[in-house]
Amino acid sequence: MKKIIIAIDGPAGSGKSTTARLAAERLGYIYIDTGAMYRAVTLAWLRSKLEMSEDILCKLLLNLHIELKPSEQGQRTYLNGEDVSDEIRSIEVTKNVSPVSAVGCVREKLVDMQRELGKNGGVVMDGRDIGTVVLPNADLKIFLIASVDARAMRRTLELKDKGIIESVKEIKEQIITRDLFDSSRDISPLKKAGDAIEIDTSNLTIEEQTEKVVVLAKEIIQKV
Ligand code: C5P
Repeated sequence: MKKIIIAIDGPAGSGKSTTARLAAERLGYIYIDTGAMYRAVTLAWLRSKLEMSEDILCKLLLNLHIELKPSEQGQRTYLNGEDVSDEIRSIEVTKNVSPVSAVGCVREKLVDMQRELGKNGGVVMDGRDIGTVVLPNADLKIFLIASVDARAMRRTLELKDKGIIESVKEIKEQIITRDLFDSSRDISPLKKAGDAIEIDTSNLTIEEQTEKVVVLAKEIIQKV
């Protein structure tokens, strides 16, 4: 049976990562969280204590080795051999990731890596530009959306689970700022691909949104 490529894009907190991870598990596919890669570069930049400039980021990238490895607890992210999976979810990284992701050399390097990871199929990749730029030939493209209130509430609860307490209001502001930055940047902005299927997850459970993606994927797998 052919292993297809599934691209899941959407704004922050729309449920991409959880849906992509669970759909991949059910299909026996590899899950690739591309946001984690941009977060790893952002962490490296924060640690460098250098100013944010294209020049500095491009030089920094030369010595960065980012790897994604599956584990029992889902995908783990490694920066030069160090497991940074938890650190890349910090508020500090989240606040700085959008400007770092808008830099051309950062996108070029990470998009190349993502294409390599996706080229053999059997993958569910989530991000902002997967269906439009990274894997425009994906067999199934999903664009997840949800109201900003639903997204802010989800993120607040996710952080609470990790022991990080932030107000819904603060998270909502961060989400609005990040969405605006991600969708208005010049290079591969967050945008729905023309052939993507939009799913509004505002009133769906994780189980329901995962099931929708798995059903759509199985329909395509049966045809190819
Ligand atoms: O998905 P997540 O919220 O972890 O992504 C963090 C940030 O990484 C996004 O806000 C965006 O700036 C950037 N990103 C991107 N392209 C992707 C995935 C993430 O620009 N494919």
